[in-house]
Amino acid sequence: MEKIGLFCCSKSTRENRCASAQCLNNINNRTGDFQEYSDEKEIDLVGIINCPGCPSEIPPDRLSSQIKSLAELQVNKIYFSNCMNSCCVFRYDYQAIIERDYPDIDVFIGTDKELKGNSSEWIITRRVIRFD
Ligand code: SF4
Repeated sequence: MEKIGLFCCSKSTRENRCASAQCLNNINNRTGDFQEYSDEKEIDLVGIINCPGCPSEIPPDRLSSQIKSLAELQVNKIYFSNCMNSCCVFRYDYQAIIERDYPDIDVFIGTDKELKGNSSEWIITRRVIRFD
């Protein structure tokens, strides 16, 4: 059983009204990078949390306490959202901090590596889907 936590960009949630739908779809329907899981493998999305905010706004050490809430749910894998993969310049720093503080948790950046670098296109696409 894979116990998954999803870690999302608070700015995307707040300013782009991202509901994490693409990432949730990948997890629930085994699309994107979740195609790699065999049908027999059980996947349980146990929690979702936003990042603490850009480090210029919020001290980056807040990250560990955010992640603690997922760790307490016994997740063994944390996936960063696709918008973090596309937009967040701190993603690798965040990954390093999580791997340092929670060595039993594997960290993956994005739920679909095909979308990397397409952030604005992806957000526009999401809006078209949302309002049509
Ligand atoms: S730190 Fe990264 S993930 Fe968090 S709000 Fe800023 S851009 Fe988004």
